[in-house]
Amino acid sequence: MDPLTLGSHRLIHLDLKGAPPKISYIEKLFPILRDWGATGILLEWEDTFPYMKDLKPLGGLSESSFATGAPYTFVEARQILDIAAECGLSVIPLVQTLGHMEFVLKYPEWSGLRELENFPSSMCPSQPEALPLVRNMLRQVIALHRPSELQYIHIGADEVWHMGLCVNCSRRASESKYGKAVLFLEHITAIARFLKETHPHIKVIMWDDMLRNLETNILQEYEMGSLVEPMVWHYNAREHFQLGPPLWDKFSCVFPRIWAASAFKGATGSCQLLPVIKHHVSNHEAWLSEIEQHGSKIQKFVGIAFTGWSRYDHYATLCELLPVSLPSLMACLKVWFGNGHYHGSSLVRRNHSTLMQETEFPGWQIFGGVTAFLNIRDRYRFIAFGDQVQTWLNPWQVQNRYTNPMQIQSLIPNVNELLNELHSLELYMRNNLDQIFFKSTVDEWIGSNISPIKCHLQQIKSDTEFQLSLGCCIKGIKKLQ
Ligand SMILES: [Zn+2]
Repeated sequence: MDPLTLGSHRLIHLDLKGAPPKISYIEKLFPILRDWGATGILLEWEDTFPYMKDLKPLGGLSESSFATGAPYTFVEARQILDIAAECGLSVIPLVQTLGHMEFVLKYPEWSGLRELENFPSSMCPSQPEALPLVRNMLRQVIALHRPSELQYIHIGADEVWHMGLCVNCSRRASESKYGKAVLFLEHITAIARFLKETHPHIKVIMWDDMLRNLETNILQEYEMGSLVEPMVWHYNAREHFQLGPPLWDKFSCVFPRIWAASAFKGATGSCQLLPVIKHHVSNHEAWLSEIEQHGSKIQKFVGIAFTGWSRYDHYATLCELLPVSLPSLMACLKVWFGNGHYHGSSLVRRNHSTLMQETEFPGWQIFGGVTAFLNIRDRYRFIAFGDQVQTWLNPWQVQNRYTNPMQIQSLIPNVNELLNELHSLELYMRNNLDQIFFKSTVDEWIGSNISPIKCHLQQIKSDTEFQLSLGCCIKGIKKLQ
């Protein structure tokens, strides 16, 4: 394939809504990303951005903030941009503007803007305060950048789960010949026009999924092609990769410039701890085939974002941490370059299969710790949900003091061994996570992964000890009279 067909941008998505790294880690990471052939960072700030003034609660700089991450100060946020600039990486900030607004709509100040009262995901585009809020967020994020730094901004707009459901939106949809689509398109075009008027040099990118089912003529009527550049995302492996001709035929009629988005982590399971590298490599191979097949239809394929999701949504648990996902990212970039696109990359000269042993990537210690944890978790599951516990130590038996002591006594040394290993691993992980992440992330990872297992094993141990302590007093089942 002609290298130009693959576009000139290779963005690495930094999803800060989960496990935002410390600046010291970013200082190590960005030069490596550049070295591996990345051209920029797609920076999804979410609640880690140091929002100011009336938006202050969003970023956690306010004492009353419920921000779950470890938001950066204004100086630190600026530092991230400076590190990127020093590495020659462009930064494209991503600000959600309609869906995935949980980090805003969870606050009492903005909960009135929800499309559905009980669900904080989607904002109601009919509320008069909706657009001013989004404009304010965009203004503040743009203001962090020097004008010359910013060529693009990403306005998210994916997965708007609830649309056209409130009274105002229902009425607007019913009065339009295009139904609910107008709610989405009017909101997005208003944002894009605001950006074009205030910052004519900035191009607007958005996720494509909400556009996929809209008819070509509607997209053309709303002049979407001159307002936004869609980023077509697809994270499946080759055997389930399905974008296909209709999408490219439609989009190529409307949009002169199109982006792609693949995934190197955060796309194979909402609580996945290590990336399934085979899956992500296959995803990139499928993308290359897709572009080879349909790329000629597109006027300009601008580039690709290698997405690395940290959570499936604001309230979801953490999935793969960034450091443990670098081997996957490296493998994916190598697939991309394997097409002869970037011969200068050090990746092409390096065999990625040896990377994990070479400890060449920052945070490799976490990779070792997570691997050890997965081994302990397997052994824990074997004990906790295995036949021995189900047969001689199930809740009914514990409650009724009914068991065969001989069958459970071997549990104690096995559980003790696991508890000791978990204790050492917790110390190791705390120490190493602390080098890279803020305290809230360290506590969340330990609290979500190690603590529940420790707690359950302690319960099994105490139940076993209790049953054994009963000795000859263990009851028999009373025969029904
Ligand atoms: Zn509404």
